[in-house]
Order: sequence, then structure tokens, then C-alpha cells
Amino acid sequence: MPHDSTTPKTLTATRDARALHPRTRMVHGGTLRSAFGETSEAMFVTSGYVYASAEEAEARFKGEADGFIYSRFSNPTVAMFEQRLAQIEGAEACTATASGMSAVTAALMCQLSAGDHIVAARALFGSCLYVCETLLPRMGVACTLVDGRDTQAWARAVRPETKVFFLETPSNPGLEIVDLKAVCDIAHAAGARVVVDNVFATPVLQRPMEQGADVVVYSATKHIDGQGRCLGGAVLSSEAFRKDYLETFCRHTGPAMSPFNAWVLLKGLETLSLRVEAQCAAASRIADALAAHSNVARVLYPGRADHPQHDLASRQMAAGGTLVTFDVRGGKREAFAALNRLGIVSISNNLGDAKSLITHPATTTHQRLTPEARAELGITDATLRLSVGLEDAGDLIADLTAALEG
Ligand SMILES: *Cc1c(COP(=O)(O)O)cnc(C)c1O
Repeated sequence: MPHDSTTPKTLTATRDARALHPRTRMVHGGTLRSAFGETSEAMFVTSGYVYASAEEAEARFKGEADGFIYSRFSNPTVAMFEQRLAQIEGAEACTATASGMSAVTAALMCQLSAGDHIVAARALFGSCLYVCETLLPRMGVACTLVDGRDTQAWARAVRPETKVFFLETPSNPGLEIVDLKAVCDIAHAAGARVVVDNVFATPVLQRPMEQGADVVVYSATKHIDGQGRCLGGAVLSSEAFRKDYLETFCRHTGPAMSPFNAWVLLKGLETLSLRVEAQCAAASRIADALAAHSNVARVLYPGRADHPQHDLASRQMAAGGTLVTFDVRGGKREAFAALNRLGIVSISNNLGDAKSLITHPATTTHQRLTPEARAELGITDATLRLSVGLEDAGDLIADLTAALEG
């Protein structure tokens, strides 16, 4: 039962969406209704599509007719997710991928060739560090890692063949902040593009394109799902970048998002701002409570005045975020003891979940690094990274306090 609204043509309402509040876009953006008039978005679990005629198939392959061809290229449920996220971000185009790492890898590899050079902040998610530091150099793309907080370090690292700057802000787990506008200006003066991994801030708190970023990547696995169910990723860009670089790369290398995951993530977007705002409010209270506790040696939270880059964070982000990093007094033994005494907060390296999760970076997410590299990122044996969920903040503070007191 074909229906007009299942063709991509009706998906291009991004310009009209700008008049709407982001919360409205999160609920309605990109919705494609089938002939059945369903309220909730349909899950189109299909890998292929049939054509009314051979001429129609030819026209779609030539790009002369709208319509889907194969779900490695696009799928109606995935397209709804892409359009909704593009509208929330205020980006011209969105390409959904199977995971955050496939989004990062595609966003970088689609535009780089042997002989090129990239500059990346050294405070990166572990797998992003592998892509920049190990995988790209193996393919002949040189990489310089810099202290992302030091704006001049970015400028000093530029070479004639520099094509891309890559960074995350706030970073994992040190919650370091990169000055987006300053770094984008340096990149653009050098003729390079800026790719920002915006997972920690989410589009609710920070929209890097408004500061000059060319490409924004997400692990949708984190706050966008927000309930720990499935993997996903997305690359947001201009329509020209998508057409010229990303589309061909993704079509032929196949990091496609499954329609099932797209459906889950589409529903996740509907509650994204409600969840992130509630999680930020709780994280802020928890950061204050931890900072006041005698068994806590240090708290890093961009929303607190004692964060070394609090002013910059306040300019760039609408709130301090959903993650709190802190050092317990003592070392690994005291950190592990506190983890093992927690009742509500679970030990897990995931983040952005409705459930509060905590991890010991030195022995999990960052155990591959040398002790010196960990020290550079501010990770000690006493450091814990807490992802604040949707539980009552008072209950979480009581749980953490009891765990710290033994
Ligand atoms: C989780 C994460 C990724 C990778 O995403 P996956 O969905 O796990 O592949 C990339 N960057 C950051 C900052 C992350 O937190």
C-alpha cells in the first residue's frame, strides 16, 4: 500500500522545523506516517524494496526518483531517526550508523587519504584514540595529539597537509573542555574541518555547529537511547559533506543502523531533553555533596565554580552535564572498596543510562594506556567516573555517602 509520505521527499522539513522549540522537534521531527495513520512511528523491518516497474527501478538507481533501494543505503525507520536528530541539532544532514564507533570511523575515513594529517585532542574515548593514533597512521594518515584545553597547541600542530581536527568536549573521563569557537577558527584558517564527538554534552546542552564545527558525531548508545538497550551512532553534517564524502563511504562499507535500533532510538529522542535535564540537575547536587565529603579528594564537574574551565563550560554548555568524575581519598583499594559497597549505583562502563553507573577508568576504559598517559589525562588509581541516572538524587547521595564511609 504505497503512500506518498513514505518517500524521502516529505522528510526535508528541516528548515520549517527551525521555528519550533527543540523539545517539539524531539517529539515530532522526521515522522513519516504510512497509509495506516499510526501514532507511533512504524518499524520497517525490511532489507529490500520492490519497484512498480523496471523503469521505476532504473530511475531510483539514477537518483531521478525518490524512494528506498536497499537498507544498507537507507530505510524508512532509519530515515525518521536521521531527520529527527538533524532537526534537533540544526544540521542539514544526518547519517545514522550501527554504533558510535562506526560514526567516528566513517566521519574521519570518508574524508582522509594517505598523506593527510589530523590533529586530535589526546583526551579521547579509548576506541577513538585507537582510530586516531593507530588505525589512521597505518593507512598513511599522520596524527598529532595535543592537550585540547591549550588552544595554541592546536595552532602549533597544524601542517600544510592537515585536513581534520578531532575532539570531544567534555572529555572522558577528565571532563576537560575544549574551546570550540577558538579551535574551529584555527582549523578553518588552516583549511581543515572540525569533527566533534558530542556524546558527553548531548544536543540538549551543546550544539557544536553553532560554534563552527563542520561535523558532529554521536554514540546514540548513550543518552539518545538513554535506557541501555541498543547500540547506534550518527554523523551530522552539511548536505554537501554527506553527498561528497559520507554517503558513498557508508553505502559501500556498510556501517548501517538496523531498523529495530533506529526505532528504539527514535523513541529515545522523544524524552532526551527531559532525561538530560533531570540527570544534570541530579549530577549537580551529587557533585556538591561529593565535594563536601571528607573521603573525597577531588571533584571534577563542569557545572561547579571550582572546575578549572568553569567559565568556558558555562559559555558553551547549557548545564554541567550528566557525568561527575571524582577521586576518593586513598588509592585503588579505597576506590574499589567504595565501588563494592554501592547498592543503587551499578558498576558499569556504559553511560547516559536511566540507571546510575560508575566505573574505575584506570582498570577498565583506560587500562590499555601507560600510567604516564593516564596521569596526563588526570586519571589516578583513586579516580571514579559516575554517570548519573534518573533515580532520586537524595537516594543516590545516600548510596554514595554510605559507600564512601564504609
Ligand atoms: C561510547 C562512546 C563512543 C563509542 O560509541 P559506541 O556506541 O559504544 O560505539 C564514542 N565516543 C564517546 C565519547 C563515547 O562515550
